[in-house]
Amino acid sequence: MSAVLGTYNRRNISFLKGKGCYLYATNGEKYLDFVSGIAVNSLGHCHDHLVQTVQKQSEQLWHVSNAFIIPEQEKLAQRLVDNTFADYVVFMNSGAEATEASIKIARKYFHEIGKPEKNRIITFTGAFHGRTLASLFAANNPEHVKGFGPRVDGFDQVSFGDHDALKKAINKNTAAIMVETILGEGGIKVLPNECLVGLRKLCDEHDILLILDEVQCGIGRTGKFFAFEWAGIEPDIVPIAKGIGGGFPLGACLVNQKVSVGMKPGTHGSTFGGNPLAMSVGNAVLDIILKKGFLENVQEVGFYFEEQLKKLQEKYPNVVSDVRGKGLLRGIQIKGDSVKFLDQLFNNKMLGVKASDNIIRLLPPLIVSKQEIDEAIIIIEKTITDF
Ligand SMILES: *Cc1c(COP(=O)(O)O)cnc(C)c1O
Repeated sequence: MSAVLGTYNRRNISFLKGKGCYLYATNGEKYLDFVSGIAVNSLGHCHDHLVQTVQKQSEQLWHVSNAFIIPEQEKLAQRLVDNTFADYVVFMNSGAEATEASIKIARKYFHEIGKPEKNRIITFTGAFHGRTLASLFAANNPEHVKGFGPRVDGFDQVSFGDHDALKKAINKNTAAIMVETILGEGGIKVLPNECLVGLRKLCDEHDILLILDEVQCGIGRTGKFFAFEWAGIEPDIVPIAKGIGGGFPLGACLVNQKVSVGMKPGTHGSTFGGNPLAMSVGNAVLDIILKKGFLENVQEVGFYFEEQLKKLQEKYPNVVSDVRGKGLLRGIQIKGDSVKFLDQLFNNKMLGVKASDNIIRLLPPLIVSKQEIDEAIIIIEKTITDF
């Protein structure tokens, strides 16, 4: 019996420690971790630089209120601005809070410029934006919203990939289009570059904002700092979380100059958001990810991973029906029961996580080596042949 409220399906295992791409379980077994806390452990487990940073900062200062200037927060914001489309950053503690902030900032912008009627946001089927009420009803996943009505208004949803429906859904009340650059929970669906370019154009034509949710696909996961960079476009608002904290709860919302105008003192806030301990960890993650050559290596290893997975697809078309993704955000579509496949993968000492569309999601730490990819491929192949 557990005193923890039963909101999760859990595998019957716990871990004692982690190092790099490996987790060591209390049962004595070692597991190759291709979940990374769902894209959270971007630098793997217990990365030396993160361990040292937490040790040092925890002896110096943990938390002060946002009523005071926080130098670590100024530093992280400036580095995010220097390396991305953004002009300003506001810090939260999770992805849901970051997407929620995005929604607020989009609405507030149009209110500020005298167009308060522009307050609705277009979203897509299969999306995931978090579990707060607004982010929940933004994604409108029938399983997730069931029983949590009345629904939060202000979202107009269209079928993912239906360009005509999208164009028809735009009206005088539309403030923004919000979409994940790569749908994570929705089945590793990559928005093609030409679609991202098209979305940007559509937004410009209709005076609406583009919100790209990079909570899962951002922070180097695809081999660029943000996944949308592959398309050469700039969104207006980008919520981030997961990988930026490397395992420490940290979220943020990045915005451009244009949409920042409505957000004045008192319009948004978070007690914990941007505290010195979290900010030190965020800065330490950037120390590594922004190092010369780091993202190029993610691209190279990610491409190698893709090649190996595609070979498996060619070899075993009766089990693997599709290989999707970019960089180190990968999905293999299984013909058959994907949960059973994950169970067998686990029995073979490797961790993956499911996504919609019968997808096995594979998100190794960004520090994964080709050797560790080879090890994963051997385990996946064994799992396929036994399946
Ligand atoms: C995980 C996720 C969220 C929610 O993040 P939490 O930290 O769980 O609140 C939002 N958007 C996307 C795309 C995600 O993958």
